[in-house]
Amino acid sequence: MKTGGNGISIAAPAKVNLFLDILGKRADGYHDLRSLVVPISLADELVLENREEGIDVWCQGEGLPAGSHDVLPEPAHNLAARAALLLREATAFPGGVSIHIRKYIPVGGGLGGGSADAAATLVGLNRLWKTGLPVERLMELGARLGSDIPAMVYGRAVCMEGRGERVSPVACRWPAGTAWWLVIVNPGFSVATRDVYARFRTGLTSSEETFRNAAFALERGDVGLASFSLHNSLEATVFAKYPLLKIVADKLKAAGALGVLLSGSGASVFAMAAGLDQALAIEEKVRRDAGPWLWARVAQVLPDGVMVAHGPLEARV
Ligand code: ATP
Repeated sequence: MKTGGNGISIAAPAKVNLFLDILGKRADGYHDLRSLVVPISLADELVLENREEGIDVWCQGEGLPAGSHDVLPEPAHNLAARAALLLREATAFPGGVSIHIRKYIPVGGGLGGGSADAAATLVGLNRLWKTGLPVERLMELGARLGSDIPAMVYGRAVCMEGRGERVSPVACRWPAGTAWWLVIVNPGFSVATRDVYARFRTGLTSSEETFRNAAFALERGDVGLASFSLHNSLEATVFAKYPLLKIVADKLKAAGALGVLLSGSGASVFAMAAGLDQALAIEEKVRRDAGPWLWARVAQVLPDGVMVAHGPLEARV
């Protein structure tokens, strides 16, 4: 995050769910889940500028999958604008803000792009407006807009439970020099999360042991064990509706990935690689196979996050 006199620029990292278990349906219609969520180096870039009144948002696609520009949200529906409104109401701040978003995260891609923008807006504006809310309060505000937002406000590797409102840190003690590299592939269409949950039938929960292995792997930075413990309860439902995604997953496996998983509710699929060189080789292979139109990106898992006070992305904005 970089603060100038009248503005602030901030990176809004996407996330992947290394583990996503749906535990059951609640009386309020939502599902109870348990998920290990990590920020990644694929990020939108936001610039927040003070203005006397009003909340404006500009959202521009940068390197998004072909044909996806028309899925960018209308300004009034943009989660970043809604987050700004919510913070202003909660703090009675008298001013306004202009929000400029350069989107790199595919929309409706299961990578939490909209949630990332909302989380970055809450964190960034709290700093710019000097409204001084503690992070727990920002997470509460975020929970009103979307299930993934509290975890993304927290901005580090977390375990997310309930509807997403219960967020606990995963203490990552990775040996020096450890890095996890991913290849993310997006098919160029979006998947509506609500539709996936409506189709989902319980019965595909994972074992406690898989969860423990996944959490242990994340704590220790063990990419082999993490790849082996990948789980997403929604994957079968989404692959049944969109067989192309299963084909993409199989291609990533055949290209040498250690493990492959649907990201969140899709439509992106990610592969875990043994290192950067392997990630680049996998990316090249799937591109060669599918054609240059394919949206594929190599990204790094950022267990310590980037948005709040430190991290490798900070230098980019
Ligand atoms: P989710 O699982 O929360 O639906 P996702 O990663 O699958 O997340 P997003 O890219 O967050 O998908 O988009 C989901 C919806 O949110 C889309 O319908 C989109 O129009 C809307 N949306 C609102 N604001 C934004 C934003 N700033 N960036 C992207 N999408 C946004």
